[in-house]
Amino acid sequence: MRHIFPTYNRLDIELVSGKGTEVQDRNGESYLDFISGIAVCNLGHSPSGVKEAVKKQMDELWHVSNLFPISKQEEAAALLTSASGLDAVFFCNSGAEANEAAIKLAKKHTGKTKILTFKQSFHGRTFATMSATGQEKIHSGFGPLLPTFEYLPYNDEGALSDVKDGDVAAIMLEVIQGEGGVNPGTPSFLKAVEAKCRELDALLIIDEVQTGAGRTGRPFAYQHYSLNPDIVTVAKGIGSGFPVGAMIGKEALIPSFSPGTHGSTFGGNPLAMAAAKATMETIFHEEFLQDVQRKSEYFMNELNDQLNECSIVKEVKGIGFMMGISFHLEVKDIITELRGNGLLTLPAGTQVIRLLPPLTVTYKELDRAIHILVSTIKQHQSAGVY
Ligand code: PLP
Repeated sequence: MRHIFPTYNRLDIELVSGKGTEVQDRNGESYLDFISGIAVCNLGHSPSGVKEAVKKQMDELWHVSNLFPISKQEEAAALLTSASGLDAVFFCNSGAEANEAAIKLAKKHTGKTKILTFKQSFHGRTFATMSATGQEKIHSGFGPLLPTFEYLPYNDEGALSDVKDGDVAAIMLEVIQGEGGVNPGTPSFLKAVEAKCRELDALLIIDEVQTGAGRTGRPFAYQHYSLNPDIVTVAKGIGSGFPVGAMIGKEALIPSFSPGTHGSTFGGNPLAMAAAKATMETIFHEEFLQDVQRKSEYFMNELNDQLNECSIVKEVKGIGFMMGISFHLEVKDIITELRGNGLLTLPAGTQVIRLLPPLTVTYKELDRAIHILVSTIKQHQSAGVY
């Protein structure tokens, strides 16, 4: 790919077709896809309901400006507000854009300047969301960063309780840090973050870009912790691969995003909304989500049992199908070996293998993945000197 800026280290296989959990490369090799486009293909590859909805919309109207009413936008927004209990939605095209909207809204609404985020967080690659991200390797070469953000240690209630500042517009966090290593927040830490927001009269922004859209067995991961956020951001899984992002907020915030304050040419256009609506109509269903909970529990228990005696494995962690296996060593080679054995996975940091299967994965596919994972990890262990 010599005409493309090399911002990604690309693998040496090209995926050219896919259905459900299975994908095929250009040479005809099949793989179980436990990356799902990084938590995007939550309904698997080419889900028929979404495909039909997009095809139908393609025959009617692709794009109109937000200068016009778009009823599918309202319908998709109703799905997000009823699943979250929040009141209004701004549609955009990516996770970073959803977070940009949240950052702007928090500052505009509160009139304050600072936003607290956490070390090892990931919020995107635009200038503001890169500045919000608490990882030096993401900032490297781009300074000076925006002065808006200060980073606190994650899962550290002591550091949080020391914050006394009156100029904090919001605290923004992932309830399970994804890129940072699949690190779930502890319930007491997350509750302490919420309490700190109330104490400072600051907004609680939850970044559900990776954890939302049913990935953890609830519409949004914060619902496992009974949190009451002011703003929630989503993207990735809500469009099944069609680029859709959304910021959802409480009613009190509505006047602060008045005409002219924010916008997007493509955000919420009819094609994107057809994909989002069909995706969310399937995912935001109690039965669908309970199935995700049951399957992911099975997967987690089996992995825990079968990897129990592997000394190179530290722990199996996560919630629902936002899962990670952390190791006492770097996982790069194991991921390559897994791929050679027909299972696609990705790292989170250097010592965690992230597992993000489609939520529609079957028990049979889970059993195949467990077999590949356990045998590959054991083989790797016995080949090395650990
Ligand atoms: N926030 C979180 C938690 C993410 O995991 C990501 C992407 O991985 C983003 C924001 C950025 O999303 P996008 O790449 O769609 O801009």
